[in-house]
Amino acid sequence: MLKFPGRIAAASFAFLLISLDCGAQAGTSAPVVAADPQIAAALKQVSADRIKANIEKLVSFGTRLTLSAQDDAAISSGRGIGAAREWIKSEFERYSKECGGCLEVKTDSFTEQPVDRIPKATQITNVYAVLKGIDESSAKRIVLVTGHYDSRNSDTLDVNGDAPGANDDGSGTAVSLECARVLSKLKFPGTIVFLTVAGEEQGLNGSHHFAKVAKEQGWDLEAVLNNDIVGGDKSPEQNHSVIRVFSEGVPVAASEQDIKRIRGLGGESDSGSREVARYIAEVGQTYDTGVKPMLIFRLDRYLRGGDHYSFNQEGFSAVRLTEYREDFHHQHQNVRTESGVEYGDVPKFVDYDYVADVARLNAATLASLAAAPAPPANVHLQAKNLENDSTLTWDASPGATEYEILWRETTSPEWEHAQNAGNTKQATLKLSKDNVIFAVRAVDTKGHRSLPVVPAPEH
Ligand SMILES: [Zn+2]
Repeated sequence: MLKFPGRIAAASFAFLLISLDCGAQAGTSAPVVAADPQIAAALKQVSADRIKANIEKLVSFGTRLTLSAQDDAAISSGRGIGAAREWIKSEFERYSKECGGCLEVKTDSFTEQPVDRIPKATQITNVYAVLKGIDESSAKRIVLVTGHYDSRNSDTLDVNGDAPGANDDGSGTAVSLECARVLSKLKFPGTIVFLTVAGEEQGLNGSHHFAKVAKEQGWDLEAVLNNDIVGGDKSPEQNHSVIRVFSEGVPVAASEQDIKRIRGLGGESDSGSREVARYIAEVGQTYDTGVKPMLIFRLDRYLRGGDHYSFNQEGFSAVRLTEYREDFHHQHQNVRTESGVEYGDVPKFVDYDYVADVARLNAATLASLAAAPAPPANVHLQAKNLENDSTLTWDASPGATEYEILWRETTSPEWEHAQNAGNTKQATLKLSKDNVIFAVRAVDTKGHRSLPVVPAPEH
């Protein structure tokens, strides 16, 4: 994990020469990033009772299968995905009322034509709330949290049977809602989007549409946190203090040229998604959320997929959060008891305190990123000559007052060292670029840190 050396005296120099032995660390080790008291206070507002009430409410709609009823009669009867959708919307609207209309509540609705698991043309609606950034130039920067509110049972085409979906993915939906409720009481320079999508169980249809539109509209989407099955199923082997964070390695959206560079320089573990995962790990150290992120360096679990992939496909950085150990008897199953085994995704298996902890980790990550300056642009590593020093250059970030150089050995999973570079746009380190992986990130006066950016070589 990161160790932060004390701020160096030369920090104000326009050009910085940091003298270090290879791999070693100068100065004293300092603690991890200090918590922002406002963010820490907001995390205390996350309520397991609130989350329990929301998951039970979602389950009360009987089924939230994407193909289930959504006509007016079904909505007023309170059964089916239409009723669930209207309730989520009303809940976001209620939070917005409480913050003087600070949230813009929206829907992204489209008709999916018949495909694999969608036998007839079906309307799919994503529901989301936008907490717009208060800073004109930073507001275009977006971080997003999502969960899928649709559910299924043993048969993904069973329109009428119960599909409670308490854990999969009532829990993720509840995380998006609770993050919206708690963070809407604060103001951030950047924008936060709280999303709930449908169609996940039919083939990621909702997130696919949303990510595509975001790409088409040129969203500056820095990070996507997809919470899917974060209920902490109460099986005996569960670890309630760990949350898994999955991230892609070589990006699915990488061009041939990207792949050539990645292959040449050993960049397989530095996708944007992986930097988001590392950021979450760091946030987990800064804030006392109750769960520790366990980074898994792969796109997803065996035989499974999720909505983060839709965002990855469009070139966005997106990760998946999932409980430590899944109980497959409690997912995608009709509710029943067979040979003494209980099947079905019902509320009694959900650990609401755990979901609250996961919501805290999400809220802390979203808040840290929305509060931070933009990641530095045009980060380059000089590679014109054969030399043992390493010179990094970058453009100034709006809102940044200083920059930090991170590095790690090529075999290390997480950033190991950090060096403050002051308010400058260039730094030279007495470290060989051949032996480590570097990144640069922007820091503001309150110590909020941007996502790190791994430099491109400048030949
Ligand atoms: Zn799911």
